[in-house]
Amino acid sequence: MFDVIIAGCGPTGAVLAAELRLHDVRVLVLEKETEPPSFVRIVGLHSRSLELMAMRGLLDRIRAHGRQRPAGGFFAAIAKPAPPGLDSAYAYLLGIPQPVIVRLLEEHAIDLGAQVRHGCAVVGLAQDGGGVTVELADGERLRSRYLVGCDGGRSTVRKLLGVGFPGEPSRVETLMGEMEVGVPPEEVAATVTAVRETEHRFWLRPFGAGVYSVVVPAAGVSDRARPPTLEDFQQQLRAIAGTDFGVHSPRWLSRFGDATRLAERYRVGRVLLAGDAAHIHPPIGGQGLNLGVQDAFNLGWKLAAQVRGWAPETLLDTYQAERQPVAADVLDNTRAQMELLSTEPGPQAVRRLLTELMDFDEVNRYLTEKITATGVRYDVGEGPDLLGRRLRDIEVKQGHLYGLLRRGRGLLLDRTERLAVGGWSDRVDYLGDPTAALDVPCVLLRPDGHVAWIGDDQQDLDEHLSRWFGRPR
Ligand SMILES: Cc1cc2nc3c(=O)[nH]c(=O)nc-3n(C[C@H](O)[C@H](O)[C@H](O)COP(=O)(O)OP(=O)(O)OC[C@H]3O[C@@H](n4cnc5c(N)ncnc54)[C@H](O)[C@@H]3O)c2cc1C
Repeated sequence: MFDVIIAGCGPTGAVLAAELRLHDVRVLVLEKETEPPSFVRIVGLHSRSLELMAMRGLLDRIRAHGRQRPAGGFFAAIAKPAPPGLDSAYAYLLGIPQPVIVRLLEEHAIDLGAQVRHGCAVVGLAQDGGGVTVELADGERLRSRYLVGCDGGRSTVRKLLGVGFPGEPSRVETLMGEMEVGVPPEEVAATVTAVRETEHRFWLRPFGAGVYSVVVPAAGVSDRARPPTLEDFQQQLRAIAGTDFGVHSPRWLSRFGDATRLAERYRVGRVLLAGDAAHIHPPIGGQGLNLGVQDAFNLGWKLAAQVRGWAPETLLDTYQAERQPVAADVLDNTRAQMELLSTEPGPQAVRRLLTELMDFDEVNRYLTEKITATGVRYDVGEGPDLLGRRLRDIEVKQGHLYGLLRRGRGLLLDRTERLAVGGWSDRVDYLGDPTAALDVPCVLLRPDGHVAWIGDDQQDLDEHLSRWFGRPR
C-alpha cells in the first residue's frame, strides 16, 4: 500500500514525487517507457520554474546542463528584449534538452526516496472509500490512497476517469528537427531574416557544431500517422524559403500541432490530474513543461498534508481552484500567439501593432510576466496586491529567502518580531527581523512560495495558519 501512486515520470510526475517525499509520503511513480524519449526537444525553463528549482536547492545542478538566454522575445516570437527591472532574481530563460531535465528531476525524486518503476503502464483504476486500485498492463494490481495522472496529453488516467477534455483539435501542424545545412551560415542568416518578415512559423537557428534547429510549417506534407522525413523538410523549406539550404544528416525529426484543451476537472475523489494530462496547447512561448512543474509544486504540499492528516477540509480542492484558471490563461495566450503567427494580412497587422505596443515597458512587462508565470496571483482573499502572489527571492539575514524553503514547509517572515507560529511549528518555520527589503510587517508563505497572509495581528495570523496548515498541535 502506497500513499500516492503517480502515473507518468515526465517532468510533472518527477517534480510531484519529489515534493511529496519532502513530507515523507510513500510514493511510487509508474512510467510506461523503459527508455528515455528519442527526441531531443529543447525546452526552456522560465523564471518562475527557475525560482522553484532554486527554492528546492536544485538550480545549480540544472543550470550546469543548460544555456542561459535573455528572458525577452518569447511572446509570439516578437523580437523585443525583456523589459528592465523584471521582478525576479532569476530573470532569464534556461534552454535545456527535455530528456536531460527529466533525468535530473527523476534523480532528485529518487534521491529523496521516491520509488520509480519503468516499463509499467497504468491501464485501469478503481476507487473506493479507502483508496485506489491501479491496474498495470501486465495485470498486476497495486493499491494506494491517492493516484495522480501525470501521464501526458493523451492521459489514460483522465480517460479512465471519464473527465472531459474540451477545446479545439489541432489545425496547424509544424515540423521541427535538428540537421546540418549545406550552405554558408551568412547565406542561411540572410534568407531566414527575409522570410521571417512574414512567415513567423519558420526558423533555422544554429545550434552549435554545424547543427541547425529547423522549424517550418507542415502544411500539405506527410501524413500525421507516420514520422516526418528529411524529404518533408526539404519540400517545405523550398516552398517557404525558395531553397532547402542543402539540409542533410538529421539528428531527429518531429511534428507538433496546436490542439488546445483543458480538463473539466482536476480531481475526481482520490484521483487527480496534473501537467499535460490536464491541459494541452501549442508550444509557442515555451510554457507547457513550466505549467506542469508549477502544477506539481501547487499540488505536492496539499496532497502531502491530506496524506499526513493535517490538511484542512478544503485544502486539496484549492489545487483545481488555483491551477485551472492559470492553465486557462496559458491556453488563451497561446491561442492569441498562434493568431499572431498567421501570414494573413489581418493578424500580420495586429502583430505589427503589438510589436509597437511592446515598446511600452508596461506592455512588455505584462506579457513577459505571463510567459514566465511570475505574474500569477492566486485568489486567496481580499488584501494588498502581494497577497496570493509569489515572493521573489530576496536577501535575508541568513542569506537567501529561497534557501529557507528547501524543506517544503510554510514560513512566517516577521518584521515586528512579536508574532509566533505556536502550535504549527512542525509545519511552519519562523524568521524574525528578516530583511528591510520586505515592505510589509509580516508575511506568511506557503510551501510553494505564495503569500498566504499579510498583517501584524496574532489572532488574524492564527486564523490563516488554521486555514492553510490545519489545526495546531
Ligand atoms: C515541439 C515542442 C516544444 C516544446 N517546448 C517547450 C518549452 O520550451 N517549454 C515548455 O515549458 N514546454 C515545452 N513543450 C511542452 C512540454 O514538452 C510538455 O508540456 C511537457 O512534456 C509536459 O510534461 P508532463 O510531465 O505533464 O507530460 P509528459 O512529458 O508527456 O510526460 C508524461 C509521461 O507519462 C508517461 N505515460 C503515458 N501514459 C502512461 C501510462 N498509461 N502509464 C504510465 N506512464 C504513462 C509517458 O511515457 C511520459 O513519460 C514543448 C512541446 C513540444 C511538442
